[in-house]
Formats: sequence, structure tokens, C-alpha cells
Amino acid sequence: MAQINSSSGGGRGSFDQAAFRRAVDELKSQVPISGVVGRAIVLKRAGKEWKGCCPFHSEKTPSFTVIDALEFGHCFGCGWHGDIIKFVMDREGCSFREAYQRLANDDLPKWTPQERAKAQAEERLERLAFEQDARKFFKEGVPLAGTPAATYLRARGITITAPECLRFGMIPSWRNKETGEWGRKRPALICGAADGTGAVVGIQRIFFKNDDPATGKADCKLSLGSIKGSALRLAPAGEAVVLCEGPEDGLSVMQEGPGLPVWVPFGTSMMPSVEFPPIVRRVIIAGQNNTAGRVAVNKAAIALADRGLIPSFAWPGAQYDDWNDQLRGGGL
Ligand SMILES: [Zn+2]
Repeated sequence: MAQINSSSGGGRGSFDQAAFRRAVDELKSQVPISGVVGRAIVLKRAGKEWKGCCPFHSEKTPSFTVIDALEFGHCFGCGWHGDIIKFVMDREGCSFREAYQRLANDDLPKWTPQERAKAQAEERLERLAFEQDARKFFKEGVPLAGTPAATYLRARGITITAPECLRFGMIPSWRNKETGEWGRKRPALICGAADGTGAVVGIQRIFFKNDDPATGKADCKLSLGSIKGSALRLAPAGEAVVLCEGPEDGLSVMQEGPGLPVWVPFGTSMMPSVEFPPIVRRVIIAGQNNTAGRVAVNKAAIALADRGLIPSFAWPGAQYDDWNDQLRGGGL
């Protein structure tokens, strides 16, 4: 593995940076992340993914997932997300450059360009199939008025007319990975996630507790298709966009502030990657009142500022957990 000498290139810092970046990318393309993570924790294969118990938080059921073709690992428990460099940095408490050097000097299993290209092509095919399924379910959905999804929202105090990106449908919550067959259909609020062009590329399915929407309680929220980079656009973007954690929060903010351009990126960790039209300059993050929420929101704000956007914050009243809680508590 080539070593990068930081004094080469006639002392031109930017040149060294570019060469270093290329060396890092090359290393990432040669070393499957499962080889690096697999030295730290026990990984078991699950289809094209690997699963294991997260090394960054305490758990007994594996929620740490590694996908070689995408060159990242993700923990569904604590939200850790990163590539081989970040894994070594966080695991061994070292700098980016040190992590690179350790990996470059290590005798790690490598895959050939052919193996990598094949795995990535398979991954893309699978993603396209998921997007297709998501679009199909979204198209089959109906407007909310008079449906169980409207009952669910009303039980949460939301009475404004829902935009067309929200639909109701009978939809399965799971699919058999082996046979590809979908499970039984259940009533759900279907949220359409649009990419940068405005096309629906994913959905979030909100199922109701005991399939009873009148409780106003969600059983589970499951995504399908491409969620990263996309958002539920509850209103058209202006020069500013308000980002909310979930659809119920977003609708609550719109009900309290009619005309606000609210978007929902399905989780704070997804906020930094949302694709905006060029008109958007400012992003107002409508956060939630708990420590984890505040930390995540601050991280998102830094990432959005790095993209050249101007982030700011809005919080519900201190006595409320979130915006829906505030709406149900009588508003501002
Ligand atoms: Zn974790």
C-alpha cells in the first residue's frame, strides 16, 4: 500500500490533501468493511449484509449492520454510521490520518475490482426494486379524507387537510426475504418520500397500534425504498425550509403555523443529506425537547452549514416533548 508523504509535492498543502483523499478512497474500495468490523465484533451474514452486536453501545440483539457494497456500517440502536476510517477512529480513539495509516499498514482481506463492481451492481438492482415497490404502494394509496389514517391524525389533534404526499392504504409490514412474498396487509398512513427532483422514491409506512387508528398511537414506522436524501414534502419549499423529525411533528407545526414550508426527512440523522432545490438558502430545524434530540439536531445543523446552508433552530415549549405534544397540550 502506497504511503502518503505529507512533505511531498513541494509543500503544497492542497496537493497533499488531494493525494491523501485519493489514497483513502482507494483503500476504501479495496477493503470490504466487513473485514475491518469482523476483527472487532462477531459478524453473521444476512443476505448481502452482515449483522453483529454494536461495539459502540451495549446490546444483546444485533442491530449493527454492515454492507460491503455500500462501504458503510450502521447501527439501528445508537445511530452510529460510518466507513472503515470512522470505525477505526471511533473504536481506537485515533485521528483520521492515523486510522488510515493503521488500515493501510494492516494485512486486511481485499476484494478484486470485479467482485466489488458485481456487489455494487446487485445492490443497485435491489434498491431499484425497492423503489419500484414503494412507488407502487404509494400509487395504490388513496387521499386521507374519511380513511383510518385521518382518524389516526385526528386522534393526535391534527385536523388540517393533509397534502397529497400523505395517503392511506392497506399495505404489508414485512416481506419474506427468501421467497420475496409480502406479509398480510394492514391499514397504514403512507408517507411519500421525494428525491431532489420531486419524484417519489421511497415511503414510510406508519402502522397503528392493534391496527386501531383511534388510539392515535403508532405501532411501528417502516421505510421502503430510498429514504436517504429524500423527504416528505408537506408544502413547497421557499427560500427557507422547516425540517421536522416525523410526519406527526411536521403536520403539528403546519397546523400551528399555516403556510410554513415543512419537510420531513424521516429522522434527524437523515437531515444532513436532504436534497433541496437551489432556491433554498435557510433551513430551520424544528427539534424535539430531549437531550438525544438536541444533540442530533446540533450535528445536523453543522452538516447543513458545511453544505453552505444557513441553519437555525425552533423548539416546542419547554413543558412539551415534541410539536405534536405541544399541539395537543393547547398550542403556544
Ligand atoms: Zn450501536
